[in-house]
Amino acid sequence: MIPYGRQEITREDIDAVVEVLESDFLTQGPKVPEFEEKVAKHVGAEFAVAVNSATSALHIACLALDLGKDDWLWTTPVTFVASANCGLYCGAQVDFVDIDPRTYNLCPDALQHKLEQAETDGCLPKVVVAVHLSGQPCNMARIKALSDRYGFRIVEDASHAIGGKYQGEFIGNGRFSDITVFSFHPVKIVTTAEGGMAVTNDSALASRMALLRSHGITRDPDQMTREPDGPWYYQQVDLGFNYRMTELQAALGISQMERLDRFVALRHQLAQRYDELLADLPVVTPWQHPDSYSGLHLYVIRLKPGSITPSHREVFESLREQGIGVNLHYIPVHTQPYYERMGFEPDDFPESMHYYREAISLPMFHGLTYEQQDTVVAALQQALAP
Ligand SMILES: *Cc1c(COP(=O)(O)O)cnc(C)c1O
Repeated sequence: MIPYGRQEITREDIDAVVEVLESDFLTQGPKVPEFEEKVAKHVGAEFAVAVNSATSALHIACLALDLGKDDWLWTTPVTFVASANCGLYCGAQVDFVDIDPRTYNLCPDALQHKLEQAETDGCLPKVVVAVHLSGQPCNMARIKALSDRYGFRIVEDASHAIGGKYQGEFIGNGRFSDITVFSFHPVKIVTTAEGGMAVTNDSALASRMALLRSHGITRDPDQMTREPDGPWYYQQVDLGFNYRMTELQAALGISQMERLDRFVALRHQLAQRYDELLADLPVVTPWQHPDSYSGLHLYVIRLKPGSITPSHREVFESLREQGIGVNLHYIPVHTQPYYERMGFEPDDFPESMHYYREAISLPMFHGLTYEQQDTVVAALQQALAP
C-alpha cells in the first residue's frame, strides 16, 4: 500500500532522540525551549509554546483569547474536527463558514455575509479559526480586514502549512492573526510523533499559553498572585492541563526542522509532476492562489461531476483495491453525528458538500518516489475508466 502521507526519519533524527534518552532530562529540559526557538525563528514569530498536539495548542490558544461560555467560534466545515472542537472545550458555541470553491478554504465573501447577519442578530464570533487546507494559506488579508471591522480574534490552524508562505512570508509570522498553530503528527510536514506548537507575537498570550500547558502553575514571582513563601514555592494561578511536549519529541523536531525547506520543495516538485501527469484526466488538480506558497501537506484532486461513469465512491474503492492509500480530507465537520445533534443540516454549507462528494487525497509525502507516483497515476487512470 502506498500511504497518503508518511514521515521521513533519518539516522540523524534517531541519534538526536537517543542522545536525549542518555541525558538527564526526558521532559522539562533544554530541548523544548530550543525547539520553540528554532520554529519561532524559522517562521518569523516572537514567541512559541510547544505542546503535545495541535489539538492541545488550539485549546490553549482559544483559552488565552478568553473564549468562553456565551461566545462563538467560527471555522470551516472542511477541516479536521479539532479545529472546531477547541471551541466546545472552552464551553463556546461553534458555527461554520462555507468554503471557497477554488481554494477549498474558508470563503471570505461567505464570512463577510455571515458577519453582517451576525451583527444584526447580536451574535458575532469571538474567534475565527482559519484553516490552511492542504497547506494553502487562507485569504488572510481579507480575514484580517474583517476582524478589524467586527472585532474577532484570529487563530490560524496551520497544521498543514509549516514551511508554506503567504504573500512571500512564512506562515506563522503573525502579520494577520493572533496565534498560529502547527501540528507535528507523523503525516504532517515535520514530525515529533505527536506534538504541536502555538506561535504568537503577543507576550501576554504566550505566557498565558505556557501557563495553561502545565497545570496553570508558575514559579515566576511576577506571575504569582501573592508573595512566595520561599524558594520551594510555586502557585497555581489558573486552571491548566498537562499538555507538555517531551524532550524526546523536541529533539526529533529540532532535527526535522533542519530539513523543512527541503521537505516543502520536494512536495512542490511532486505536486508539479502530478499536475502534468493528470492534465488529461477528468479531474480538477489543486488550484494554487498566486499569493500562496503552499506547505502541500495534501494533494487533493476533485472528480469532475458528470464527466465519468464510475462514482466518486467507486473511484475511491478502486484506488484502495489497487493498493493506493487514498484518503478524504475531510468529512465536513457539521455532518459528524456529534455536530448534527446541535442542529446542523448537511446542506447548510453546500460548497463543502460538493467538495466532499468529489475530493480524493492522493499520496503526497517527501519520500514518495517518481515510480510510486507513476503507480498512483496508472491506478487512477484505471479507476476512472475501468
Ligand atoms: C492534524 C490536524 C489537527 C490536529 O493535530 P494533532 O497534532 O493531531 O492534534 C488539527 N487541525 C488540522 C487541520 C489537522 O490537520
